[in-house]
Amino acid sequence: TSFSSFSLREELTQAISDLGFETPTPIQQKVIPTLLTDPQDIIGLAQTGTGKTAAFGLPLLHHVDVSERHVQCLVLSPTRELCMQIQEEMGKYGAYMRGLRITAVYGGMPIGGQIRELKGHPQVVVATPGRLIDLLERKAISLDDVKYVVLDEADEMLNMGFREDIDLILKNTPSREHTWLFSATMSNEVRGIAKRFMKDWKEFAS
Ligand code: AMP
Repeated sequence: TSFSSFSLREELTQAISDLGFETPTPIQQKVIPTLLTDPQDIIGLAQTGTGKTAAFGLPLLHHVDVSERHVQCLVLSPTRELCMQIQEEMGKYGAYMRGLRITAVYGGMPIGGQIRELKGHPQVVVATPGRLIDLLERKAISLDDVKYVVLDEADEMLNMGFREDIDLILKNTPSREHTWLFSATMSNEVRGIAKRFMKDWKEFAS
């Protein structure tokens, strides 16, 4: 399999080729075709380093409508470092998508700058759960039009005590159509999120 067999939008194929990616990793081969053609709910079991950021990031960007200036995709991730990495990585994939904005919001940084960045109307927001709740309470972000939610490293987020925050965030996504959960390990707590917020999900392992 090669990336050209995925029928990703042209801007993404170009960026992937610039980055020198030739062969999709196993998790990418498994989930990308599904997430492009029938972006139903999925659970992906994958560790860091398996190429999972592109596994969800490329399909997310494929579905983004850059002409719409509201948050369409939300990626929840456990730490500031991971949020920054995901933003950077997805920024590279979206380099040719004119008008695309990806904003990362996370704790441990002054909130003012992040509120200002959100006023630039990103289509994609990458967030740690606690900071996102803070921004929701301040009405600095609306999740009303979010269609795609990715829970990255769900097991880590649960270990860090974000369960209630995740629940609250998912309950505040009235337009959510697709929920993609990634986790290195499967536990009853991870399955609990799936049972509460996902339907008819397929599972993939890297
Ligand atoms: P991740 O597991 O998402 O943290 O990705 C690990 C690293 O692999 C990142 O630096 C990616 O840029 C890189 N990468 C992801 N997919 C591919 C691929 N298909 N071919 C080559 N490198 C890749």
